Amino acid sequence: METKTLSKAAPIIELPKPLEQLSEGEVERKACIGRLMTYTLNNLTSQFVEKDFQWLLPVALSQSTDPLWPDPGASIEKRIEVDIYGKTVRTTASMIIHKLIASSLAYPKLFILSPNIRIEKAERAKTGKHIYEFTQLDFEARNASTKGVMTLVEEVICNLLTSMKQDMKEELSLLCRCDTLELPKRPFKVYDRQELEVDYGADWEEGIAQETSDPVWVTNIPREFYDFEDFTTGKWDNYDLFMPQYGEVLSGAKREWEYEKILKKIERDNVDKYNYALVLKLAKEEKLKPTAGGGIGMERLVGWISGVEHVAETQPFPRAGNSAR
Ligand code: AMP
Ligand code: MG
Repeated sequence: METKTLSKAAPIIELPKPLEQLSEGEVERKACIGRLMTYTLNNLTSQFVEKDFQWLLPVALSQSTDPLWPDPGASIEKRIEVDIYGKTVRTTASMIIHKLIASSLAYPKLFILSPNIRIEKAERAKTGKHIYEFTQLDFEARNASTKGVMTLVEEVICNLLTSMKQDMKEELSLLCRCDTLELPKRPFKVYDRQELEVDYGADWEEGIAQETSDPVWVTNIPREFYDFEDFTTGKWDNYDLFMPQYGEVLSGAKREWEYEKILKKIERDNVDKYNYALVLKLAKEEKLKPTAGGGIGMERLVGWISGVEHVAETQPFPRAGNSAR
């Protein structure tokens, strides 16, 4: 089959202006997006609490943060390391390892509003989708299945949109999203990444985001050691959620828990074993449990809802470019 050509080349998106440079109208728009962020945080955290997920507070510095490697999607340029009492720790890139440990040992169902720092190549900010500080609503559940996580996410997102469309009409209408933000039909369609590569080539993420008019799942994406990989079929039991005309807002997976597999994958990926000694030890002692979960980028989700050009518009102090306040 021939690869489809995308309708247009990815545009370069201007970085948003800092707060103190906004006009009166722009401040009104900013405040409106802020109210949608408040609504979304309140709604999603309440839904997870109601479903018996424990709300954990985040860690900011740790030895075993996300290696973000190998991940064809990530282009990390700099990793921030500091010495604390003689131990080298890094700023949190994601709390994936902490989620696996916490869910296995003490909090079977958990979520965290986790601040992530990822300093990627500066050009990335021009996609309008990348900021160097963002927050994930990161959740994990012991013994959960991929299907279970998909159903949960579809339910919480549809509940959020249903109540938001009732309660936040003024905000959605000011952002011209009253009519264009539709309530998706469940279950969302599921695509295999390999099928999408046949259709769109390497640019499948952009391709599916442009083409779909509903949120869709994409499964089987090769990435970091902690996502479950079936060594016999070579398929990955993981998933990303893509929003129409926007792109990825969630990544998640069923996770690895068996020592031999984790060790093999860490070695295969050339990841520093020393940083993941605890998770390896727990896996060896069979204390690591099968879990599944995901992380919703809050700025991306609210960015999609609000119809912003640049995801940093959802931040009071945009974390893109070199104009940090
Ligand atoms: P990941 O596991 O790396 O895919 O991150 C989980 C979610 O966080 C993604 O699906 C996005 O919604 C969000 N995210 C990841 N990287 C960024 C970034 N550089 N800027 C904004 N949001 C991001
Ligand atoms: Mg991702």
